[in-house]
Amino acid sequence: MSFSVNRNDKMNVFIEDLTHDGSGVAKVDGYPLFIPGALPGEEVDIQVGKTLKNYGFARLLNITKASPDRVDPPCHVFWECGGCQMQHLSYEGQLVQKRKTVRDVLDRIGKLPHVPVHPVKGMDNPWRYRNKSQIPFGERDGKVVSGFYRSRTHHIVDTDVCIIQSDEADDLMAMLKHELHALGLDTYDEKTNLGMLRHLIVRKGRATGEIMVVLVTRKKKFTQKDAVIELIKRIVPNVTSIMQNVNAEKTNVIFGDETILLHGKPVIVDSIGDIDFEISARSFYQVNPEQTEVLYGQALDYAQLTGDESVIDAYCGIGTISLFIAQKAKEVYGVEIVPQAIEDAKRNAELNGIDNAYFEAGPAEVIIPKWYANGKRFDVLVVDPPRKGCDEELLKTILEYKPKRVVYVSCNPGTLARDLRILEDGGYRTQEVQPVDMFPHSSHVECVAWLEI
Ligand code: SAH
Repeated sequence: MSFSVNRNDKMNVFIEDLTHDGSGVAKVDGYPLFIPGALPGEEVDIQVGKTLKNYGFARLLNITKASPDRVDPPCHVFWECGGCQMQHLSYEGQLVQKRKTVRDVLDRIGKLPHVPVHPVKGMDNPWRYRNKSQIPFGERDGKVVSGFYRSRTHHIVDTDVCIIQSDEADDLMAMLKHELHALGLDTYDEKTNLGMLRHLIVRKGRATGEIMVVLVTRKKKFTQKDAVIELIKRIVPNVTSIMQNVNAEKTNVIFGDETILLHGKPVIVDSIGDIDFEISARSFYQVNPEQTEVLYGQALDYAQLTGDESVIDAYCGIGTISLFIAQKAKEVYGVEIVPQAIEDAKRNAELNGIDNAYFEAGPAEVIIPKWYANGKRFDVLVVDPPRKGCDEELLKTILEYKPKRVVYVSCNPGTLARDLRILEDGGYRTQEVQPVDMFPHSSHVECVAWLEI
């Protein structure tokens, strides 16, 4: 490697690329430098910071040629908060960047340069889309603070407003913070494991407008409980559900084991397409239901169901995709490793009068081979694995039994590309890939891939 780059050097560089966490990348004699705040296509003055063997970091001093896609981040804490990575790039620019990320990994890792990657399906209004906020509370210099963590830390970036969450979450976050001292309620201290209020969780049903508020406290009993309930009802008069979760442990995990109803109902309802979902304090539910409909609509399009098919939904969570599919197929078999999610899936099937969806809890790589070994056969297989991608054993099972069509929903283009290569080597052909933007202003991108054999 060249070592023309040293700490504290100042230079002007051209930004070639953007990393996953939103840093610009410049190459100086082939040596990559990561520069937070810089955008592709820009020329910037930098000062080199830490240098490692294969790459280094630099600070942005001045932009000498700005990207036409650069915008002023609308959020006033964007540069400190770790919640968003790309508010300084126009939304159109973000979508172009996300498509490029997918294209690059399909070429590099998947060796699939011929597979079409469509333009990313984005949101018409990419603000206030999150239906769930998990807001830590703390205290600094005698003042209550609440907001979101700085990237890779537990430092709360104090704010009254977060423009990707609901108005109600903003109101609750701000007003609770400003009234806590008057109520005499203190906040939890991670270092000493003392204090009461740990987290505020706000969930909203997009289609129904129903609101759930969850207070995570260190103890079950606290004297200000009734006053806090009254305050929440004053901030959100139509609140559907107020819950308390008790977490006495010294831990990073948000929820403890005990959840108590304080006011209203223990669940809220939301719908995606024409399927209703019941959401409890701890159940998993997609955070952007508007785009979930787009994502799963795409998965359904690629599945090309006529009504005669037996379909597997692997990694089915609470059965969101399964229940969509059930309406269009002969039957669907969902598998998911978290038993509670399978309980939710069964209840949601019942709630919607769906009787051709079968759910089983366990690892997909164990349960699916078992179904096949029992003589079951499937026409279409849908997978929606976590970030690490499909288990190798599952890929082996697919290649052994070769369902005609595979629809792969992915939240990590890197592992998607790796798994597509394995399926291609086993005889499948990737037809096309459709990225969908589930998390505007973050660097995440979801994809749906369609494969045939
Ligand atoms: N399709 C789901 C979400 C999928 S997220 C929905 O729309 O709700 C990925 C899911 O895979 C998570 O629910 C996770 O619990 C589950 N999971 C992780 N490893 C698994 C495994 N080995 N077998 C089955 N499910 C698994």
